[in-house]
Amino acid sequence: MKDVVSRRTLLFGRSGLTGREDVIRPPWSVSGDAFAKKCTGCGECVRACPEGILTIDKTNLAEVDFSKGECTFCRDCVVVCADGALVVLDPQTPWSLHISIEGKCLAMKGIECRACDDQCEPRAIFFRPTPGSVASLHLDKDLCTGCGACIASCPADAITLMPASYKEGAN
Ligand code: SF4
Ligand code: SF4
Ligand code: SF4
Repeated sequence: MKDVVSRRTLLFGRSGLTGREDVIRPPWSVSGDAFAKKCTGCGECVRACPEGILTIDKTNLAEVDFSKGECTFCRDCVVVCADGALVVLDPQTPWSLHISIEGKCLAMKGIECRACDDQCEPRAIFFRPTPGSVASLHLDKDLCTGCGACIASCPADAITLMPASYKEGAN
């Protein structure tokens, strides 16, 4: 993913890294070009995040890394952002992320695994018994908050969160 970002930076410049990119910005990021213009890469949000999931990427913009943990929506990052890059317009909508679970999933291959089920508080991921086989995984995307808690728990790297505006191959 880093290589893709770098290539886009070269092709489009910093202002081209907008809401369509395949990078997740912190919760309550202002949308589209505005975030790239407002975020100075100062790192205040990185230092403030109690979960340690924020980093500054190669384009000097704040980014979420769910491999390090989940977002609890505490808003500490928003509080310390003095540049207007993080603004709570709607408390219920920190971001719009799209979740998908791919064929690499162990449960989908008939191997017992419920690691993500244990992490998902909203019950967006749940399992149903399947006679004669391992329990089958189900995903209710409407319940997913995009917290990312399931990502690091997955031993098969089968779960993907992306900005809803990002479409593979569209840019
Ligand atoms: S809302 Fe809290 S947990 Fe989520 S990225 Fe911001 S500081 Fe970290
Ligand atoms: S943790 Fe990963 S491999 Fe295991 S059931 Fe969930 S998505 Fe599948
Ligand atoms: S990102 Fe969605 S599916 Fe994963 S743990 Fe959070 S709410 Fe559940």
